[in-house]
Amino acid sequence: MKFSLFHKLTNYICKDTGEKNESPKLIMVIRILILSMLFYIAINSIIYISILNNTVIAILLASFLIFLGCFILSYHQKTSSIVFMLNIGMIMWIFMNVTYFGWNTGVQHFIIVLLVLCFFSGYSQYGFKVFYAIALCAFRIYLFFLCQNKTSVVALDTTLNDILQITNMVVIFWCVSVIAYVFSKDSQNLESKLVEYNNQLMSQANTDALTGLYNRRKATEYMTQMLRPTNTSCSSVCICDIDFFKKVNDKYGHDIGDVVLQKIAQTMKTTMEDKCFIARWGGEEFLLVFPNSNGDEANFLLEGLRNKIKALRINSGSEIFGVTMTFGLAEYDFNTNIDSIIKEADEKLYIGKEHGRDQIVY
Ligand code: GH3
Ligand code: MG
Ligand code: MG
Repeated sequence: MKFSLFHKLTNYICKDTGEKNESPKLIMVIRILILSMLFYIAINSIIYISILNNTVIAILLASFLIFLGCFILSYHQKTSSIVFMLNIGMIMWIFMNVTYFGWNTGVQHFIIVLLVLCFFSGYSQYGFKVFYAIALCAFRIYLFFLCQNKTSVVALDTTLNDILQITNMVVIFWCVSVIAYVFSKDSQNLESKLVEYNNQLMSQANTDALTGLYNRRKATEYMTQMLRPTNTSCSSVCICDIDFFKKVNDKYGHDIGDVVLQKIAQTMKTTMEDKCFIARWGGEEFLLVFPNSNGDEANFLLEGLRNKIKALRINSGSEIFGVTMTFGLAEYDFNTNIDSIIKEADEKLYIGKEHGRDQIVY
C-alpha cells in the first residue's frame, strides 16, 4: 500500500510535460523543487503564526499561488517556460521575504539554488548562463545594500530569526542536493559507460576475433615497447605457421580450418601464456615473443609446444585428424631492429618449410 502510494507519487512527479523532446530529468527536478517550496511555505505559515498579519498572509499566499501555478503548468507547458517561471517565483519569494523580514533570516541564500539550477539545466547557451549568474550575484549585492540602508518592515526576535535561518538553510541544502544528485548521477553514469566502451574498443582493437589472441597491431606495439635497444635482457622472437593448412581447408572446409586455428590458439595460451607474448600474426601464422629468454631457452619451450600441437586431435565430423607446425626462432640482439628480427624469424621458418616442416629452426 505504502509502496504503491510512493510509486504513484513518483510517477506523477516524473510525468511528461506533454511537449516533445523534453528532458524528463529536468522536469522531475523542477517539480521536486516546486513541491519543496510549497511544503516550505506551509511550514512558514506555522513559524510566522505569532506575527501573522495581513501582509504576512499576503506574502505567503502570493508565494504559494505562484509556486502552485508553476506546478500545475509544468504538466502543460514547455520545461523552459516552467524553469523561467520558477526563477521569477523564487526571486519574488526572496525579495518579499528579505524586504519584509530582514537579512538575518538568510532567505537570500535561495539565490544559490537558482545559480546551481541555471548551470545544470541544459536549456540556455553558456553565454546566457554566465550572464544570468552575474545577474544573480548583482541581485544578491543589491539586496545586501537594500537591507543595510533600510530596516525590515517587521523586526523578528532572535528566536524566530534563528529558526528561519535554520529552516531556510535546510531547504536550500535540500534543493541544491536534489539538483546536484540527479544531474551528477547522470554524468557519472555517462562517464562510467564511456570508460566501459573505451575499454571494450581498446580490447577489440588489440584482439583477434577468431582466436581471442592479440592481433598483429598489438604485437607490433608490444615489440616496439619490449625490444628497445636500452633493454639489456635477452629476448627471442618466433614466427610459426601451420603446415599444409590449405589442404585442411580444402579437405574439411573453412569452418573446420577455423576450429584448428582456435584449438592451436588455445593450446598456445594454456602452455605458453605465462612464458611469452602470443599473437596471431596473420592467416595461419602466429608470433611468440619471449621477453626474458635467450634462443636456447625459447627453443626448449617451443619444443614442448610443437609436440602438444602435434598431439592435438580435431574431429571433422567424418574423420579425426591432426596438424603440425613449423617454427622460425631468432634471438634478439641489441643491434637489430624489429623489422630485421622478424625477417630473420621468417627466413628460418621458410628454411623449416623447405626441410620437411614440423620442426623448429634456430
Ligand atoms: P605451408 O605448409 O607451406 O604453410 O602450406 P599452407 O597450405 O599452410 O600455406 P598456404 O599459404 O598455401 O595456405 C595458407 C592457408 O591458410 C590459405 C588460407 O585459406 C588459409 N587461411 C588463412 N586464414 C584463415 C582463416 O582465418 N581461417 C581458415 N579456415 N583458413 C585460413
Ligand atoms: Mg602461411
Ligand atoms: Mg601454412
